[in-house]
Amino acid sequence: MKILLPDALLTGTSLLRHHGIVFDKTILEVAPNEVLRERYGSKCQELGEGSVIMPGLINPHVHLEFSANRSTLTYGGFMPWLNSVIASRDELINECDDTCIQKEIEEMLSHGITAFGAVSSYGYDLNAAAACPQKVVFFNELIGSDPAMADALYANFQERLFASQTVKREGFHPSIAIHSPYSVHRVLIQKALKYAQEHELRVTAHFMESLSEREWLDENGGDFKPFFVNFLKQHHAANTPAEFLSYFKNVPTLFTHVIHASNDELTQLQEGKHTIIHCPISNRLLGNGALDLERLQANTIRWVVGTDGLSSNYTLDLFEEMKIALFMHHSQELIALAQKLWQSVTADAAEALKLNCGKIVPSYDADIVIAQVDYPISDQLPLHLLLRPPLIESVYIYGEKVKG
Ligand SMILES: [Zn+2]
Repeated sequence: MKILLPDALLTGTSLLRHHGIVFDKTILEVAPNEVLRERYGSKCQELGEGSVIMPGLINPHVHLEFSANRSTLTYGGFMPWLNSVIASRDELINECDDTCIQKEIEEMLSHGITAFGAVSSYGYDLNAAAACPQKVVFFNELIGSDPAMADALYANFQERLFASQTVKREGFHPSIAIHSPYSVHRVLIQKALKYAQEHELRVTAHFMESLSEREWLDENGGDFKPFFVNFLKQHHAANTPAEFLSYFKNVPTLFTHVIHASNDELTQLQEGKHTIIHCPISNRLLGNGALDLERLQANTIRWVVGTDGLSSNYTLDLFEEMKIALFMHHSQELIALAQKLWQSVTADAAEALKLNCGKIVPSYDADIVIAQVDYPISDQLPLHLLLRPPLIESVYIYGEKVKG
């Protein structure tokens, strides 16, 4: 059992001054430092002025297999980016071996990320994800819109899914990703979602990332058209947006991006109790615009923040991602947004991914970050943590020290 007394404690939903925690594998107690001092005496570890305890951060959306990208891919527009992915995919994937993936997972840990959702296209990130200390929601991705190829593509997906299901370690969750409404045939989607329901697997999907996607799904036209006609000999979108969302009716899902969703689609997302993953840096780099947070809040749709992969980001650091979100959404009230961002990468992300962490509250797993700031702590700490990221001194997962 460990007892830590910090200057400030972020619980996942609020900020407490001079409160400490008692934990072993899970959090046992949160109480004012003076109460803990009286009760436990010399067993208490004083962390001193400027020390902050917070829940481990949760990155719900990353593509680790693309971690070799630095300047290979083209930024500025979705179609130029997609074409560059197709042209350089093999090269990027081959350049990123287990060590390259491990390095990015360690990088996330050094930024206080104790859980992540990895969208895996090929299964090449399985070994590193299985062996790392973090909690992992391992989303095996299903892709394929050509009915002639459906059986082969589903078999390949199943093979990867089954391989991930052989990993037996606490905190590792084999799961399913449906790539997008334009890239997966409805028969495959329905089959995969049926399996997900039967086996209580977590599910994610990309949705309405670009205007090109909007135009293709609505009108079978726009920038996507030449791409589908030339590469895939397809003249019609695989799904309409409404049909696509209807398949997820009873499967609460994490939908990534959702920038160009219509009001009806937002209603569907709200009714299905789905969560939106917001990746502001990726959205900016690929020219997709900015998510309208006011519309989500008006529809009471939960949103969380993710980094996306290094295929559309320069870092897998949620402090940086939150800071960018803070400046991108300039019409939101500053302090309220900073608080909401913290909640999104801790308590809300954990709930959406069905993980027993993200809160410093008794009975939650002791996934904890101990950090230090070199400035006086005020009520505006959630903001200052983004402007001047703290030094991360140590990280605990299930109460075990994994860093520091
Ligand atoms: Zn993605």
